[in-house]
Amino acid sequence: MPATRFDPYPRARLFDGPTPIQRLHRLEAALEPVLRGAKLFVKRDDLGGIGGGGSKLRKLEFLLGDALAQGAEVLVGVGPLQSNSARLAAAAAARLGLACELGLWPLEGQAGETLVSGNVLLGRLFGARVQTLPDASAAPGFIAAAAQGRRSYPLPPGASSPLSALGYADCALEIADQEHALGLRFDRVVIANGSSASQAGLVAGFALLGRRRLVQGFSVLADAPVAEANTLALARACHALLRGEDEITAVDIRIDDACRGPGYGRTTPESLDALHLLARHEGLLLDPVYSAKAFAGLLAHLHEGEGTRPRNENLLFVMTGGTPALFGYQSALGT
Ligand SMILES: *Cc1c(COP(=O)(O)O)cnc(C)c1O
Repeated sequence: MPATRFDPYPRARLFDGPTPIQRLHRLEAALEPVLRGAKLFVKRDDLGGIGGGGSKLRKLEFLLGDALAQGAEVLVGVGPLQSNSARLAAAAAARLGLACELGLWPLEGQAGETLVSGNVLLGRLFGARVQTLPDASAAPGFIAAAAQGRRSYPLPPGASSPLSALGYADCALEIADQEHALGLRFDRVVIANGSSASQAGLVAGFALLGRRRLVQGFSVLADAPVAEANTLALARACHALLRGEDEITAVDIRIDDACRGPGYGRTTPESLDALHLLARHEGLLLDPVYSAKAFAGLLAHLHEGEGTRPRNENLLFVMTGGTPALFGYQSALGT
């Protein structure tokens, strides 16, 4: 059984899966001219678990399992101020009885509520000590100083590593189980790609089932060549942890960076449109700078190659959470 491949890796339970898969009937009706019969589903990884939920919990389960096995006393995280990863690290530390030190910096041009609300506010509520850093270059110094004689576990940027990718390899197997229950097969699984371990894990997990080129990533951080190289390296290393047999190659990694806009952490008109579209048709929340960009990318792909041929595709979009960041981007949302 594939699940036993995960047994060597200790896991801290932060999250009660499986997360639901839901079909978006109202959105399908609204998008009928572009969908032309394709069915649209979402995987609700924005639900469940602690800390407000989100995709980072799947990754943190394996990182925190490792941290506890190493006897860590303090979790150290660095990232931009509206980091979902940092917020959920703080919640995980609270749940597991560890201290948490966060070093967070503002992105260029950020001001107002972005500096204090959303994820920063929640990180503080979970009891993390938050220090504001001038920029990313201060991160190594912060990590070195944060331990203060305690046994520390520094989290990788974005909580991405081969070990954390196991969380999304497991999600791929979970999706395959749900396909059986739903009586369908997905032709495309779509996810935002930031620090890349989520897409990499999905690729590694589906490869265990002999399913290749299924995952479409939309980069919100690096340009496509860099994101592809990072994702390939992480997918291979994760697949090796699972003792997968078939080699993962560059053709398994599909990433589009056209929806990234002016850069990481900045909204685009298309991402805001996607966010409003899901909110108003389905009552679902995308986050402004990850999943909204990926959903905008999916819409752009659907608009490409317009024609009359029906599509008999089942599309699965992974809702990755990050809704607290909405409150950090209130003015950008124009509401
Ligand atoms: C981190 C994050 C992602 C991207 O996951 P990576 O593993 O970093 O590529 C997508 N959506 C949300 C809401 C996130 O917080």
